[in-house]
Amino acid sequence: MAHKITEECISCGACETECKNEAISEGDTIYVIDPEKCTECVGIAEEPRCVEVCPIDDAIIHDPDHKETKEQLLEKWRKLHPGEEPAPGSF
Ligand code: SF4
Ligand code: SF4
Repeated sequence: MAHKITEECISCGACETECKNEAISEGDTIYVIDPEKCTECVGIAEEPRCVEVCPIDDAIIHDPDHKETKEQLLEKWRKLHPGEEPAPGSF
């Protein structure tokens, strides 16, 4: 399941550089996550990096409209990072 940024976002920008999939960008009013690139940090880290650095509770949540299995998320990560190996413990 991809993650999604809610209206609670204060546009601090902390999450953008943490996303190694380059899934996060600044939107018109809040930051946004591209569900085609968010792997819930499968392939990258044990826990979602954006959620860990975000200073606001509930600004980044699971996106109920983009439900995916761990296998699908890992496949998405492999397409984004051809030739690389996923980080240990990240899937
Ligand atoms: S959960 Fe990971 S991959 Fe998804 S937007 Fe956050 S940092 Fe990027
Ligand atoms: S870290 Fe949280 S508050 Fe800051 S831009 Fe990202 S989602 Fe918004």
